[in-house]
Amino acid sequence: MSGRFAELHLDQVQRAFGDTVALKGMDLTIKGGEFVALLGPSGCGKSTALNCLAGLLPLTGGRITLDGKRIDDLPPEKRGFGMVFQNYALFPHMSVRRNIGFGLSMRRTGKAELNRRVDEAVRLVQLEEHQHKFPAQLSGGQQQRVAIARAIVLEPPLVLMDEPLSNLDAALRLEMRTEIRRLHQSLGLTTVYVTHDQEEALALADRLVVLRLGEVQQVGSPEEVYAHPVNRYVAGFMGYRNMIPVTVGSQEGEHATVHTEAGVKLVGVKREELGSEAVAAVRPEDFAVVTEIGANTIEAVVEIVEYHGREQAVEARLRDGTQLHVRTNSRLAPGDTITLKVPAERVLVFA
Ligand code: ATP
Repeated sequence: MSGRFAELHLDQVQRAFGDTVALKGMDLTIKGGEFVALLGPSGCGKSTALNCLAGLLPLTGGRITLDGKRIDDLPPEKRGFGMVFQNYALFPHMSVRRNIGFGLSMRRTGKAELNRRVDEAVRLVQLEEHQHKFPAQLSGGQQQRVAIARAIVLEPPLVLMDEPLSNLDAALRLEMRTEIRRLHQSLGLTTVYVTHDQEEALALADRLVVLRLGEVQQVGSPEEVYAHPVNRYVAGFMGYRNMIPVTVGSQEGEHATVHTEAGVKLVGVKREELGSEAVAAVRPEDFAVVTEIGANTIEAVVEIVEYHGREQAVEARLRDGTQLHVRTNSRLAPGDTITLKVPAERVLVFA
């Protein structure tokens, strides 16, 4: 199978391991050329979904179709998807060039064509200087580039990546992230990328799929999911580190007035149907340290201050004992009593 497709469709895809249902009926449509990130914590079913797409795991329910044709009964080699894993899986006894060209030689590609395509792939991942070395002579980042080149040289209709950057140090991870985005943009590859790192998913993907315990929680553009998480689980994943327990007072249109356990009133945006108990979700960077008590302000005592250069990460505590995470460039010290203000639009209220 090769060339660009219009639509890959997962229809109620299910995969169980004995009593554990790792994927509980996943529906998803991936368009040709799209970069889709599957995001969620360990055990949410991301790798299972990827392995089902690759053909490495048979489904226990549902179907996968590519432009209307069923592919879930095809073995991996018939699907011909490219795969990049975190452990690279390079052949240690082959040079970089031979590793990259291996798939093409298996397909009996002519020598001239093979060399042309390997040259191109080597250039794309910037390994010209290292192409005659063996994997053991390369850094982790260079090995990861070989793994990527080996996948893209076959011009697969779909590239599947499972946490490809997780074995790299922080600086290299950022560099390779940009590289993957650049490759995606210049080649127009369709990519499904598994990660537990929300920042990586936001930076890379055209569309995010947030998974929890084998179920899709939300599908949307990075902007949509970041700004409008559908529930507290997705919000927690998108940086809403503060989940303040509240009771619900009044509700009006899309706003809710809530009260913290110590009775402080906050107005926020209602994201779900609410009962009497709820949580007010706030991002650490959405609090401002102010000098006057007023609407949507809350008093806290500073406990820990970490200096992060441009700003400080502060742990503070509300009178009712609730811990708060705050990011600010105000200078604070442990023991300070501070007043924090958060705009109503930046408070999300979840059931
Ligand atoms: P991680 O980031 O840790 O790889 P994940 O989100 O990729 O996590 P999966 O590996 O897809 O999660 O696993 C989903 C669930 O299925 C987990 O509960 C896991 O224990 C279970 N599971 C996965 N593979 C198997 C297997 N081969 N046998 C039994 N259970 C499995």
